[in-house]
Amino acid sequence: MTEQRREREGVREHAGGARSAAEVADAWEALVATARRTVSDGLVVGTSGNVSVRVGDTVLVTPSGVPYDRLTPDDVTGVDLEGRQVLGTLVPTSELPMHLAVHRTTDARAVVHTHAVHATAVSTLVTELPPIHYMTGALGGPVQVAPYATYGTEELARNMLRALAGRTGCLLRNHGTVTYGTTLDQAYDRTAQLEWMCRLWLTASSMPGLTPSLLTPEQLARAGERLRGYGQPGR
Ligand SMILES: [Zn+2]
Repeated sequence: MTEQRREREGVREHAGGARSAAEVADAWEALVATARRTVSDGLVVGTSGNVSVRVGDTVLVTPSGVPYDRLTPDDVTGVDLEGRQVLGTLVPTSELPMHLAVHRTTDARAVVHTHAVHATAVSTLVTELPPIHYMTGALGGPVQVAPYATYGTEELARNMLRALAGRTGCLLRNHGTVTYGTTLDQAYDRTAQLEWMCRLWLTASSMPGLTPSLLTPEQLARAGERLRGYGQPGR
């Protein structure tokens, strides 16, 4: 290799490294902002939820047991798709198996897990969230409840994957919510919508002597089609 070429390669390597370091720093900042939002919006109390975002083959995750308002840019925590720690020294979230299962098997770039109160309440009552609102279509259809398994286990991750089939969100029995998306904002928004729908169903079904009307599969399918085209074109 000539001196000139070595220099060129070196510059390229350096630029590539700098670019990915900046990408990781930006993704970490966005992850911390999302994690803080789950607390400020009341979806999570303390550090009981967790968030992940993928940068290339690295999955950045919230560390275990550190309050989100104390996380700094130096606390970047990342693992590869097998769960080996490749960034940082803080212990990754105990729900790593669930996050990795989603990143390995879907097109997710971000995953949000919470213990949102209405969603968790619904997870103890039914095996599927009754389709009470057309926003069900935004999650791919009626939301399933994954059977209970101990937190942090591969068994829980397997149960979750089955409940997620064809969906971008599910409930975990006696535990909470999991949603994913192509961005942190999308994954977060799906959690907020899921919690809102659970609250809606609980509210409507708590009227003595009355039963809420539900949407038919055809009505849901039609809403789902429209939702796919919803928003500002080209944005
Ligand atoms: Zn949890």
